[in-house]
Amino acid sequence: MTYKLKSLNEECGLFGVWGHPEAARLTYFGLHALQHRGQEGAGIISNDKGKLKGHRNLGLLSEVFKDEKDLEKLSGSAAIGHVRYATAGSASIDNVQPFLFNFYDGQFGLCHNGNLTNTRTLKKDLESKGAIFHSNSDTEILMHLIRRGFSSELMDNVKAALNTVKGGFAYLLMTENKIIAALDPNGFRPLSIGKLANGAYVIASETCALDVVGATFVQDVLPGQVVVIDDDGVQVDTYTNDVDLKICSMEFIYFARPDSNIYGVNIHTARKNMGRILAQENLDIQADIVVGVPNSSLSAASGFAEASGLPYEMGLVKNQYVQRTFIQPTQELREQGVRMKLSGVRSVVAGKRVVMVDDSIVRGTTSKRIVTLLKEAGAAEVHVVIASPPLAYPCFYGIDIQTRKELIAANHSVDEINEIIGSDSLHFLSIDGLKEAIGLGNQICTSYFDGVYPTPLYDYTHDYNLGLKEKVSFY
Ligand code: AMP
Repeated sequence: MTYKLKSLNEECGLFGVWGHPEAARLTYFGLHALQHRGQEGAGIISNDKGKLKGHRNLGLLSEVFKDEKDLEKLSGSAAIGHVRYATAGSASIDNVQPFLFNFYDGQFGLCHNGNLTNTRTLKKDLESKGAIFHSNSDTEILMHLIRRGFSSELMDNVKAALNTVKGGFAYLLMTENKIIAALDPNGFRPLSIGKLANGAYVIASETCALDVVGATFVQDVLPGQVVVIDDDGVQVDTYTNDVDLKICSMEFIYFARPDSNIYGVNIHTARKNMGRILAQENLDIQADIVVGVPNSSLSAASGFAEASGLPYEMGLVKNQYVQRTFIQPTQELREQGVRMKLSGVRSVVAGKRVVMVDDSIVRGTTSKRIVTLLKEAGAAEVHVVIASPPLAYPCFYGIDIQTRKELIAANHSVDEINEIIGSDSLHFLSIDGLKEAIGLGNQICTSYFDGVYPTPLYDYTHDYNLGLKEKVSFY
């Protein structure tokens, strides 16, 4: 039997606070700073003296909470919240988090960023034992595992459950008297703890969300850690010592906000380094100006311009009111999305040999369209430089790239891609250059570029090999 696994719980943003009178409002602000991590749905669960209440819906955070009363009713001094990333065909309120579970002996709120690799096996096993799932996301699995634990101590059951799920996960779990946060043994996703002036603790997917609520950074949650935040403060424990940090390189390349820091590395600085190293690796490009693709490539473009000595110009302008194109379900809509989003600035690029810097090429839609835009605006030549290596392998830990079919670099050489997107030359950053730019050595996951996965792929091994001629290697 063949089957297609498509996870529904990818790249998301998490925020939690314990010990603040306006906890839900603070969570709203925190999630607002994390909106780039997911635009499909959002939700908040608050905790008012042990009573958990929630509100969630499809759409941007501001749409979900457009009626002020929805936020006001989330009273209490603790809250967790979630923004969810969109993938085709998954737009169902059932999958919008946080999930609120009502048991005879208590309530739990749960949200998740990442993607499990043994979902199918665990779901099958749990369903055979009577479990019923309400969503088709993999997040509910953790709750079932915890409830089926053998210990009378919640934390023992949480730790056992965390050792059973595999893949990429950052969890926030709220009970009536605490928030529990946990990170997978490879730390694929970022998660940071901060402290507010009133002594309350906050936890967020990215440090930009700590900044926005005025929290000072305390620490990153480390791989294999389980953290309890309650009236006594923060207690950091571990559920496994079998850890190996492999933070997702796509967080640095594209996903995280430039003002966030992950393991002490500022995202803007890492991207600027990527651009600088890319320039050093391609000194022979003959051009007049450097143009970055707004917004995600501006840091890399500034690094490229600085290192190449070429002037940085605003040759492309972005309409700030159009959402990301990547999330559109069809190719036609994606192309329309790029057209609405970007315009070439004729008086800047006309007659010029342009170096166009972008952060990545996934399907090639964006680059192709932008090369055309720049040429239509009169550019004499367009040399495309990409501040990441060719993306040729899928991700199973939480980035929405799970099929090789759509990845242009999985199916074409650099010369062929150059031809397809219509550029005069095309250059990618090397994997070593990427590692140097981020500066965390081998502690980053580069599987999209080299097909080397830090963990076994469990349920995906079969699915993955079906469409894969090349070898898959594991650490
Ligand atoms: P494409 O047009 O399919 O080649 O997509 C490339 C563009 O999508 C790049 O300009 C990136 O800024 C953006 N991008 C890269 N990775 C992702 C991702 N995982 N989710 C959403 N957008 C992405």
